[in-house]
Amino acid sequence: MAGILVIAEAQEGALAPISAELLGAARKLAGEGAGNVTALVAGSEALAKELIALGADAAIAATNAALADGTADAYVPAVEAAISQSGADIILLGQTSLGRDLGPALAFKLNTAVAMDCVDVKAEGGKLKATRSAYGGNARAEVSFKNSPAIATIKAKSFDGLAPDAGRSGAVSTIDAAGTPRVKVLATTKAESTGVRIEDAPVVVAGGRGLGDQSAFGMLEELANLLKGATGASRAACDLGWYPPSQQVGLTGKTVSPNLYIAIAISGASQHMAGMAGSKNIIAINKDADANMVKVSKFAIIEDYKKVVPALIEEIKKLG
Ligand SMILES: Cc1cc2nc3c(=O)[nH]c(=O)nc-3n(C[C@H](O)[C@H](O)[C@H](O)COP(=O)(O)OP(=O)(O)OC[C@H]3O[C@@H](n4cnc5c(N)ncnc54)[C@H](O)[C@@H]3O)c2cc1C
Repeated sequence: MAGILVIAEAQEGALAPISAELLGAARKLAGEGAGNVTALVAGSEALAKELIALGADAAIAATNAALADGTADAYVPAVEAAISQSGADIILLGQTSLGRDLGPALAFKLNTAVAMDCVDVKAEGGKLKATRSAYGGNARAEVSFKNSPAIATIKAKSFDGLAPDAGRSGAVSTIDAAGTPRVKVLATTKAESTGVRIEDAPVVVAGGRGLGDQSAFGMLEELANLLKGATGASRAACDLGWYPPSQQVGLTGKTVSPNLYIAIAISGASQHMAGMAGSKNIIAINKDADANMVKVSKFAIIEDYKKVVPALIEEIKKLG
């Protein structure tokens, strides 16, 4: 057996961003000799075809309606059927509400192990090695697997998805297997958010404890809006009640990898860095030239943010 099986996800009839990211991880593994990439998605064959365009060599639509609620009970038989169809010995899932449940359930059923919340994967000799944060983000642990298949859940934004290529071809098939859910989903509520999602924003303007009070976030939001970005916060700022926890960046918050991350009055603790170190360009605005965020930044402004941010807003407004 060899190959990679990606458990893709869809929301409201469209592929969720994690699906492309998982395929990005799987293509990396395939490039390192881990075999072909098969992707499974609950839904229609049309949805499965999109997975081919995003990098799968073959795609399977799991059409049984029992999968619609996203319970592990319903998914396990469908994934087992996909494993025997594909011959995969590596299973990748998202660190999502589905993956958090399904990863351990599959590991138990298949008498193997799961590495949760991985930030990197590689194949060595065709075998999976997965990297996870350890010691509260201060270290990284690389784990390997004794049993097969090797199962890993991948943290959002750890991998870039590939651009869809309609010219790619691959076999699309369906399976009908599903288990009986023991959990009944009574309702789902969409998290309220306005503007661009922080995970998808090309620019993130984030504020920390050094802002001194909640009202400063208004200024950060203005800057973020001008740059068509999203506003984030450190855990210290969220814990103080200055900004919603849904916008927290870091080990216990969101992972972001924008083109530009502007860190305002954030010291750059390892747990914060765990969520934004993948940013393409970091600008630090900090009073302390020795702050870690200043050290990792491409550009730093060593000054009180109260002087810098209004001036920045004014200059950007002049650009129209
Ligand atoms: C298990 C665990 C998980 C954690 N998860 C997360 C997480 O997900 N995300 C996260 O962010 N943290 C997390 N933390 C907390 C983390 O360790 C830090 O405590 C936190 O990130 C610090 O936030 P901060 O940088 O806003 O505050 P501080 O460390 O207090 O830094 C404030 C900064 O503001 C600067 N400053 C002060 N005044 C001004 C001014 N007027 N102008 C400009 N600069 C100024 C200071 O020089 C300083 O660098 C976690 C901790 C643990 C133990």
